[in-house]
Amino acid sequence: MPFSYEKVKQQLVEERAKLVEQLEQLEASKYESIGYSNHIADDATDALEQAVDLTLKRSAETSLEEVEQALSKLNNGTYGLCEACGTRIDRARLEALPHAQYCLDCQERREHTGKASH
Ligand SMILES: [Zn+2]
Repeated sequence: MPFSYEKVKQQLVEERAKLVEQLEQLEASKYESIGYSNHIADDATDALEQAVDLTLKRSAETSLEEVEQALSKLNNGTYGLCEACGTRIDRARLEALPHAQYCLDCQERREHTGKASH
């Protein structure tokens, strides 16, 4: 099947909707749990749940940001170009990961240097 920007755009729009929904649910559950935390044991459970929620929320927010960026790149015609070296990202990679920001080489390099410097 040929690579289709329309298909990628559709995937990204769906992904964005999913992430927005996920974030809304996390927000809703946060407010819900405030109402019935009357006991110490419940507070501990809530704290743990909130920590998990926060991790989920952060990762959803990061993904949402990447999806938004990919969509704006689709609009301005720079979609599919590696942000680090400007090379056209492999189409198979984009099909597997529509919001990929880097080509495989740069991604690997970033993962290696990222671990070393942080
Ligand atoms: Zn690159």
